[in-house]
Amino acid sequence: MENRKEEKPTYPKYAPGTHVRTSDIRDKKITYTWWEPEIQYAWSLGNAMSKFLQGLKEGKILGVHCHKCNRLIVPPRSFCEYCYGPTEDWVELKDTGTINTYSVSYLDPNANRIEEPILIGVISIDEAYPKPMGFMHYFGEMSKDEIHIGMKVKAVWKPEDEREGSINDIKYFKPLGGGE
Ligand SMILES: [Zn+2]
Repeated sequence: MENRKEEKPTYPKYAPGTHVRTSDIRDKKITYTWWEPEIQYAWSLGNAMSKFLQGLKEGKILGVHCHKCNRLIVPPRSFCEYCYGPTEDWVELKDTGTINTYSVSYLDPNANRIEEPILIGVISIDEAYPKPMGFMHYFGEMSKDEIHIGMKVKAVWKPEDEREGSINDIKYFKPLGGGE
């Protein structure tokens, strides 16, 4: 093959075309359409997550042990990701914990800007171990100035007849205390 070393490809400094600006959309200079697909699907959660969500429907946070690694795992898994052995011995945990991390978000889940921020973060569930062990959720009944890492919190549950086996069967975690 001949030496093509000299033939370096060249690229335009800027890609051709025109950037679309938000104002172009607002001023209807851009043609666009909106389509909402009707998609139906079923999702198999597996044994461990199904049992966890069924527990939430009943107002319980369930965890499961790996005795070999001395872990009490929540959210539960069918196997321990440390030793890959099967988990066993399900237990109900208290619905209290400690804020491990958090964010103050001025964007809602659809990326719209909002005035009142959403407080969201990871809760270390009290009886699970080793720490930190827990899951992500919303925080409520506290301001962005009050929330802090290490804050003790407790789950606020939806009324029983509104629960559907979802992580949102817990509405949010509120500060522990205030008479409880
Ligand atoms: Zn293990």
